[in-house]
Amino acid sequence: MRIGVVGIAGRMGRLIAEEILAAGHALSGGTERPGSGQAIPDGTTAFPDVAALAAASDAVIDFTHADVTAAHAAALSASAAAWVLGTTGLSAADDAAVAHAAQGIAVVQSPNFGPGITLLLALAEQLGAALPAADYDAEILEMHHRHKVDAPSGTAIGLGRAVARGRGVRLEDVMASGRDGHTGPRPPGAIGFAALRGGNVVGEHTVLFAAGAEHIALTHRAFDRRMFAAGAVRAAAWAAGKPPGLYSMKDVMGIG
Ligand code: NAD
Repeated sequence: MRIGVVGIAGRMGRLIAEEILAAGHALSGGTERPGSGQAIPDGTTAFPDVAALAAASDAVIDFTHADVTAAHAAALSASAAAWVLGTTGLSAADDAAVAHAAQGIAVVQSPNFGPGITLLLALAEQLGAALPAADYDAEILEMHHRHKVDAPSGTAIGLGRAVARGRGVRLEDVMASGRDGHTGPRPPGAIGFAALRGGNVVGEHTVLFAAGAEHIALTHRAFDRRMFAAGAVRAAAWAAGKPPGLYSMKDVMGIG
């Protein structure tokens, strides 16, 4: 299996390259943003762009920046490689570009490639379906390191979407994020978000269902981002050669 890494000098890119080799696959090479000042690791083949990398790979793994996701979607939709996409902070237009690319190639997209969060996503949907929205207020709390550029985290939004799916609503219609000032009372059925930033926190997420007489909280703490990298490599090996489609880590893990 030949796997390439887009943004190979990034925090995640470097770990993904290591995990590809640790899993016994071939590292086909990597790309970096021109002028990023980030060096491609010694001994790794540098490709000028994502299309050239894909031409030499069975799958490419992309943990870069939302600004370039739509361009990557356009470049990869004409390739034969599967696309594992971990970049977060995507706009609705970016999501549409990813869905369009998935008509031509296999795409595995997840806000979190860790197995624990993938299970948490499934549980959040089940709780959303089981607990009446009128009685149980859903709140998603997250904390990440000081370098993170988007909020709420992609994982937090994914958890909110899972609760919304369980409730049969669209997250966009009920999302309450960035509360500040005189907000008024909590709207019934809202799914709230709170984001903390600081230190070196790899990722903490809690899904809280708060009723008058009880609270139910599910918490996940990630201690090493290598776990995301290993999950992304597992997804790449699973997706290579699969028919076109938009897959999730739940598909990779076989969780319904
Ligand atoms: P980072 O800033 O350390 O790395 C991003 C890298 O991408 C940089 O090296 C940058 O130069 C490179 N890059 C940007 N545009 C590029 C382009 N056009 N071509 C090639 N390279 C380009 O950030 P990071 O901590 O590695 O995170 C990257 C992304 O992955 C973020 O969106 C983050 O939220 C996400 N992330 C997702 C998961 C997950 O499991 N889905 C886990 C961790 C991080």
